Amino acid sequence: MMETVAGSGIYALDTGRIRDDFPILHTLVHGKPLVYLDNGATSQKPLQVIRSIEDYYRQINSNVHRGVHHLSQQATDAFEAARTKVAEFIGARHTHEVIFTRGTTESINLVASSFGRENLKEGDEVLITAMEHHSNIVPWQMLCEEKGARLQVIPISQIGELELTEFHRMLNSRVKILALTHVSNTLGTINPLKEIIDSAHRHRIPVLVDAAQSVLHLHPDVQELDCEFMAFSGHKVCGPTGIGVLYGKQDFLNAMPPWQGGGEMIKTVTFEKTTYNELPFKFEAGTPDIAGAIGLRAALEYLQVTGTDKIFHYERQLLEYATGKLQQIEGLRIYGSAAQKASVISFNIEGLHPYDVGVILDQSGIAVRTGHHCTQPLMDFYGIPGTVRASLAFYNNFEDIDTLCNAVRNAIRMLR
Ligand code: PMP
Repeated sequence: MMETVAGSGIYALDTGRIRDDFPILHTLVHGKPLVYLDNGATSQKPLQVIRSIEDYYRQINSNVHRGVHHLSQQATDAFEAARTKVAEFIGARHTHEVIFTRGTTESINLVASSFGRENLKEGDEVLITAMEHHSNIVPWQMLCEEKGARLQVIPISQIGELELTEFHRMLNSRVKILALTHVSNTLGTINPLKEIIDSAHRHRIPVLVDAAQSVLHLHPDVQELDCEFMAFSGHKVCGPTGIGVLYGKQDFLNAMPPWQGGGEMIKTVTFEKTTYNELPFKFEAGTPDIAGAIGLRAALEYLQVTGTDKIFHYERQLLEYATGKLQQIEGLRIYGSAAQKASVISFNIEGLHPYDVGVILDQSGIAVRTGHHCTQPLMDFYGIPGTVRASLAFYNNFEDIDTLCNAVRNAIRMLR
């Protein structure tokens, strides 16, 4: 076990104090202190986020953009302040380049439906990678079926890195969009986005980045990356469920048709013709998740106050420690050992089914995910039904890793 204040100098992180902000980390599961290692599925929420949502409902609950009354204006101000915070956090040039959605999945579907329907024709191609989450596969597959276009998949190596030579060979004028994840939710691989995006741009191919697994850990900046679109979910960055973000470059979003019709997204409506609202409202039909946006703002502020650089460095230490300790367990195989990795460790134990391991870990109060992690093609690539996945966050500590390793050893003893 290591000390509570991990790291040194400017990267020191007081995990003891941080953990006090997360009430759920102090609960018991099956009579044992919760060890939450399922951050890839969803992150936990600090009090600051929980309180911001409660304050909204207690003090200013009202619909946005419509009323002249006091509460409606306050709710609108808070909702738009959340948009401004997101834009600042991801480095967007304009606040109206931030569209609120329900999450990563909806953001990707928005681009596939709107940009995709407008820009793809028969014989065109959509480029994705072999490590995508189902939500960055299926919307493109549906689009390709509709248009008679082809889904092309950039292969990966055994250690879980993209085959970049093959990627460069796959770039051509038929490719109308490249959609890829920043961080693999199953392998932890951090893809070299800058290099990939620059190469795609040399062929005039726009790029969508699935940042579901990266915003919390790597704090990507859309202007630095120069991506055309970026999608992420509030619930994976310490914010609430039900809110997500699509970032899009202004020129792209302006050129795209709306994808859902209704209130908010219109300028004028007659039975003969409707004209559409400006960005970002053109893509936000209906009453948005106001409380969700406010909670997301509180979450991003929490990450900023904690220090995104500190989070990155601390999680790297956690990953190294966990990888080293897990590798000492006989018969344990880790899937994904890319040179650049985020704090996700997928593993299996020789002769044991991942589900059985997960059940035993649960008995020790340890929350890990077992299964295919919504990456079935990746499981097929490795020829396995699933893995046990421990995904770490900055509020985990070294003791959590020790508890995990002891419980894995215990599972081996029980199941063999
Ligand atoms: N992409 C990746 C890489 C993910 O890890 C996830 C969530 N597991 C998603 C997309 C989908 O996110 P959501 O369910 O919040 O829409």
